[in-house]
Amino acid sequence: MTRRELCDLLAPAAGEESEIEAKFLLESSRDEAWLRQAVQRRLAGEPLQYILGEWEFMGLPFIVGPGALIPRQDTETLCEAALKWLKSRPGARVLDLCCGTGCIGVSLSKLGGAQAAFADISPEALSLARRNAQKNGVDGAFYESDLLERVPGVYDLIACNPPYLTAAEMESCQRELTFEPALALYGGEDGLDFYRRLAAEWAAHVAPGGLLLMEIGCTQGTAVRELFPDAKIMKDIRGLDRVAWVEKV
Ligand code: GLN
Repeated sequence: MTRRELCDLLAPAAGEESEIEAKFLLESSRDEAWLRQAVQRRLAGEPLQYILGEWEFMGLPFIVGPGALIPRQDTETLCEAALKWLKSRPGARVLDLCCGTGCIGVSLSKLGGAQAAFADISPEALSLARRNAQKNGVDGAFYESDLLERVPGVYDLIACNPPYLTAAEMESCQRELTFEPALALYGGEDGLDFYRRLAAEWAAHVAPGGLLLMEIGCTQGTAVRELFPDAKIMKDIRGLDRVAWVEKV
């Protein structure tokens, strides 16, 4: 199949992204039969990343699958902030909480020299995180835990991308998003359930002088600052609120 043909076939699902999606598919294409099947899956709305089975985040390769959220560029904002902080703290203990694929913890360990631990309520997600740690040559501890409930120890940095979509956003979301686990997306009626729980629980798990970094939805800055009065809200590359930075004094 030529690139042009593939592009035309993808158009109903991929729209303006057809060119780039065709390029990705051709690069990882095993054979013609695989390509045809990939097109069918894509036309059924499945995200390109699940079809490829692998996606890049912070320049590193990650295995992706329906058990966890696909790593997003949004989350690189949190990682960049964490890496700056880690520069003067080699070997810092980092917990990737609600780790999903493990993309945050793996990146901070690989690129920032952190000692990583991973926690997620979903066994499927944890298994992906383990495979991704191994793929990138990163060691870590892995905890199956509802937020911090079963996570032992104290950390210098807790980095967390919790589910934060509202009920309304879940209703109106694009088709691709319905292939990702709702467990990783839905943050309760107003999207803030996990920030409320973290506000009550985080301090017991962070060492003095440590840091809590949370990804937030672009409209949640004010609400999150009410829950964490000392939080600094940072913006992503599009200029939208994206990360809450909370220091422990
Ligand atoms: N940013 C994601 C989205 O809008 C949501 C991620 C999350 O809930 N942690 O698809």
